[in-house]
Amino acid sequence: GRAWHLVARPHGWPKPEDFALREAPVGEPAEGRILVRNLYFSVDPYMRGRMNDQKSYVPPFQLDQPMEGGAVGEVVASSAEGFAVGDHVLHGLGWREYAEVPAAQAAKIDAAKAPLSAYLGVLGMPGLTAYAGLFEVASFKEGDAVFVSGAAGAVGSQVGQLARIKGASRVIGSAGSDEKVKKLVEEYGFDAAFNYKNGPVAEQLKQAAPDGIDVYFDNVGGDHLEAALSSFNVHGRATICGMIAQYNATEPTPAPRNLALVIGKRLRLQGMMVNDHRALQPKFVEEVSGWLASGELKFDETVVEGIDRGVDAFLGLLRGENTGKMVVSLAG
Ligand code: NDP
Repeated sequence: GRAWHLVARPHGWPKPEDFALREAPVGEPAEGRILVRNLYFSVDPYMRGRMNDQKSYVPPFQLDQPMEGGAVGEVVASSAEGFAVGDHVLHGLGWREYAEVPAAQAAKIDAAKAPLSAYLGVLGMPGLTAYAGLFEVASFKEGDAVFVSGAAGAVGSQVGQLARIKGASRVIGSAGSDEKVKKLVEEYGFDAAFNYKNGPVAEQLKQAAPDGIDVYFDNVGGDHLEAALSSFNVHGRATICGMIAQYNATEPTPAPRNLALVIGKRLRLQGMMVNDHRALQPKFVEEVSGWLASGELKFDETVVEGIDRGVDAFLGLLRGENTGKMVVSLAG
């Protein structure tokens, strides 16, 4: 089987030469392990951080080793109790065709309940991020006006729809193309949306939210966070989930310049890590499955075919080529 290795640490935007697709041996799984043929693997913004050699909440990728990340696949050999050939599992050894996974790090998933790729997106880590980030971290309550950036992405598209379903007074989203903006309003039921590339974010947000916002779900940082601070009503709450606008920056980024607004408006800005919210998992799956079944919650996936296009998929994600969750399919 083949696996993607990181072979050089990117400075700024990653280049295709920073990665190599290499052949790896596939054997019988060791005791307590299963051999999984991966059917989909996830590419996520946080992986950019793991390409740097710096201490963070997840250890850096090792050079000349397979990269890791969420994946779903089919068990093709098992030396672990509780797993049989043919079972579908979710695990953390993506970026490769075959993975030998310790049984304790694999979770069985039901292909009859949802498409397998959904366990990487709407029913997986990004979905839980949206759910926990809105309801637990931002303390969302009915009647709040909610602004979310990165609104056509995996996390953002779910945040906006969850806010609508739970009775937000107004849901506003920003995204990087007119097509995405149209989708937010026409398909996901946002009340207003704008393309951040069409003009200053602060001005566009003021127009979209003339009565201000109570919750800001930040996926982007920079001028988006600055704009949210300006538009916040008193006692506003921000979930600081991601700052993708600066993941490839080589210089310190300036905004927000208006942080002092936090004082007079008594704002709460709170960072989040999805792994802190595992206790919500059962409630999240139950509620979100229900809204998917009823059609209240919609989701998109951008599926890139073939392991050889894995790095293209990751680079495309950073450039905004995805609508909804970006996944790589190895199923074909
Ligand atoms: P997305 O599906 O949202 O994909 C990334 C999107 O970011 C792109 O589609 C692109 O859309 C947008 N983007 C890229 N560059 C910029 C830029 N300079 N300014 C504004 N938008 C940009 O990814 P996810 O839903 O997986 O993740 C969304 C955010 O949530 C990320 O910041 C990620 O790091 C964070 N995250 C944090 C977690 C946590 O525990 N804290 C867990 C999971 C995700 P566009 O066309 O609109 O520009």
